[in-house]
Amino acid sequence: MTETSKRIVVVTGGSRGIGRSICISMAGADTHIYFNYFNPVNPDEEAEKAKETENAIVDAGGSATSVSVDVVSEPAVNAFIDKIMEEAGRIDVLVNNAGITRDGLLVRMKTADWDAVLDTNLKGSFLCTKAVAKFMMKQRYGRIVNIASVVGASGNAGQANYSASKAGVIGFTKSVAKELASRGVTVNAVAPGFIETDMTAVLPEKAKEALIQQIPMGRIGKPEDVAAAIKFLASDDASYITGQVIHVNGGMY
Ligand code: NAP
Repeated sequence: MTETSKRIVVVTGGSRGIGRSICISMAGADTHIYFNYFNPVNPDEEAEKAKETENAIVDAGGSATSVSVDVVSEPAVNAFIDKIMEEAGRIDVLVNNAGITRDGLLVRMKTADWDAVLDTNLKGSFLCTKAVAKFMMKQRYGRIVNIASVVGASGNAGQANYSASKAGVIGFTKSVAKELASRGVTVNAVAPGFIETDMTAVLPEKAKEALIQQIPMGRIGKPEDVAAAIKFLASDDASYITGQVIHVNGGMY
């Protein structure tokens, strides 16, 4: 195991959207960022997007390594984390950001769509957190930030699977925070509202307009709005905050 003096940050789903923004906001000369992505349908396109994130991190003065790793696969997640420990000797920050939607009304929802969303959003967070927790506990230091969603607190018609996964992420965050607090590891969640990324780009214009009506600040959030809260929770300024959910939603809920 080699030791590095750099702060080691791991971000899941860093190739696009909020994950990319998190990577860029945390980039710096004293930080190395490992991020993953996974899309077996368009592997070349996603690898290209991951390269773009890597380049943006370098432009921001930092360094990065990206790998295609499915957060749903326990062996793949463990190999990813073990490799980082082998290379860097420590992990300071984990951001569980990878997530998907498979929207539909309950009565029409396919079991496969329920499973895919719960697996990626909730089981993926469990697997990655479990893999890093043992190392963070030994280090007696760590920052874990899980990405939930406003609908995990409010519910949303057409998103029973997604809302359940994000409510699960909130319960998971609060429980693991209690388990790891005495070891210097904080565990918090950020619950974004309606943020401009590929995930929301697929919504029809009318649905977007209706959503904006529900936002007191009158605009869709930017990935940077979410990344700023994550950067704070991952910093030493947040060392006495654990088991909390910060809502970044323009006053929506
Ligand atoms: P996005 O643009 O669709 O990006 C999703 C990221 O997750 C991509 O990097 C994707 O990799 C990765 N990913 C998906 N499945 C994966 C898997 N099995 N293993 C590893 N990586 C995987 O989504 P986003 O809008 O940035 O959302 C990021 C997080 O914020 C999610 O947890 C989402 O639920 C949450 N969130 C988003 C909003 C919003 O309005 N956008 C609101 C609330 C919460 P590829 O590039 O390889 O596909």
